[in-house]
Amino acid sequence: MTGSGPRVALLGFSIECNRFAPPATMRDFETRCWLEGEDIVTDARGPAPKALGEMPGFVADMDAAGPWQPRPILLAMAEPNGPVEQAAFEAMMARWRAGLEALRGEVEGVYCVLHGAGLTTELDDPEGALQGLVRKVLGDVPLVCSYDLHANVSDAMVRDCDAFVGYRTNPHLDMRERGAESAQLLRRLLAGERSFRALRRLPIVAPTVSMLTAAGPYAEVIDLGQELAALDPAIWNVSVMGGFAYGDTPFNGLAVVVTAADQGSADSMAERLARAAWARRDRFVAELTPLREAVRRAKESPVPLAFADVADNPGGGGRGNTMHILEAFHAAGVEGCLMGVIHDPLLAEEAHEKGVGARFTARFNRPQGMLTADDPFSHPFAAEAEVVALSDGRVTGRRGIFAGTAMTLGKTAALRLGGITVVVISIRTQCADPAFLEHLGLDIGQARSVVVKSRGHFRGGFDEFFTADRIVEVDAPGLTSPILSRFAWTKLPRPVLPLDPEVRWSPDA
Ligand SMILES: [Zn+2]
Repeated sequence: MTGSGPRVALLGFSIECNRFAPPATMRDFETRCWLEGEDIVTDARGPAPKALGEMPGFVADMDAAGPWQPRPILLAMAEPNGPVEQAAFEAMMARWRAGLEALRGEVEGVYCVLHGAGLTTELDDPEGALQGLVRKVLGDVPLVCSYDLHANVSDAMVRDCDAFVGYRTNPHLDMRERGAESAQLLRRLLAGERSFRALRRLPIVAPTVSMLTAAGPYAEVIDLGQELAALDPAIWNVSVMGGFAYGDTPFNGLAVVVTAADQGSADSMAERLARAAWARRDRFVAELTPLREAVRRAKESPVPLAFADVADNPGGGGRGNTMHILEAFHAAGVEGCLMGVIHDPLLAEEAHEKGVGARFTARFNRPQGMLTADDPFSHPFAAEAEVVALSDGRVTGRRGIFAGTAMTLGKTAALRLGGITVVVISIRTQCADPAFLEHLGLDIGQARSVVVKSRGHFRGGFDEFFTADRIVEVDAPGLTSPILSRFAWTKLPRPVLPLDPEVRWSPDA
């Protein structure tokens, strides 16, 4: 392609890694989003991209601003999982390296989509490694990186970029906007402006459920950052990064990253916001509902409720197959309940073989499925079931984090177990979008209760059915339990809140 305007390299690596979950493989990226070369731009400009919103938002903003010349390399994204197998990451690094070397001396800027809570089986900071590679190959060419707000921010991530852009919403509803903002900041850099960055990291490993941005301590600090940034023309971006506890890295901790026109402005803003977060430190806690109480409310509540299985969230590396809530609700005879989405390819396959209307014994997590082996919290469960609907699992997200995104859940089945209709899928995904249930003809508006395997992103998708006061976060065992004292941490900096109440911090230390 010949053209005019700035030549911009595009690349990305996005996965959130739970140290306690089994390793992610190359296949996990190929299944969700693996785009090379021009496919990145074609996907971004298409009606239902495979990529999450950052790259489409970036490309759209660049397109709208005038001529430019994208130089796309590789964008690899996967569902949250365990650490990426080192060989798979090295294979990706080889592609990024070759792509960058081919562009040396040609590109004027780089946009890199990152999550920030990646791990490999050998590295704690693969994002830092990728940013370092960009610097090594291209030198100080302007580099803008965007991150999920669950990023665990390393020093290298802040050092090896020119502008650091983090999500500001949880559920993540601003991915496209942050991509567009990344494009705007890159254009300032291309125009010759210089930027400086500051990082302040706090000894707070916030439980996932305490980091919502509609209300609460985290929301207050994010809002304060935006208010202050709007008053100060020197500030380019303020990112308050909540982090991802289960990454279990030496650099875990709520972090403020500021990009500004001068170092003093960046430092003072970062320090001010770090103090504001520290002042709220006692409010970053998990308050969950015991399973027994959840069962009672599912049976007795006069209004429909949503129950979140926050401890088995595929969006945090959970396997999406623990049985604790299903077993308890089934034993108690809960009626009018929709539950999803449970990852069990063998069971989905069996339901497809039997067909709609068939009755059979649904055996979840059967040992030959090898699903239980990778999660100490999943166990087999069997119950009489009827197949009520089947699909190939191809869904375009309708609302929330996956809105407009082309998703595939693999072979999917709705099974009726007494008063509970369970949606079983074949490609592990968190239940963040009502379309995952609706595409099978299930009516969420008619349900007395819905149980979702999701920590919080379901809030952005199911909000039209359940206001915040009708959401119950259930305390069941799992790989993503927000009760952090239940994990055998190996690398977290200690002391740290909320595990070590005696921790002290001062901005001068
Ligand atoms: Zn996130």
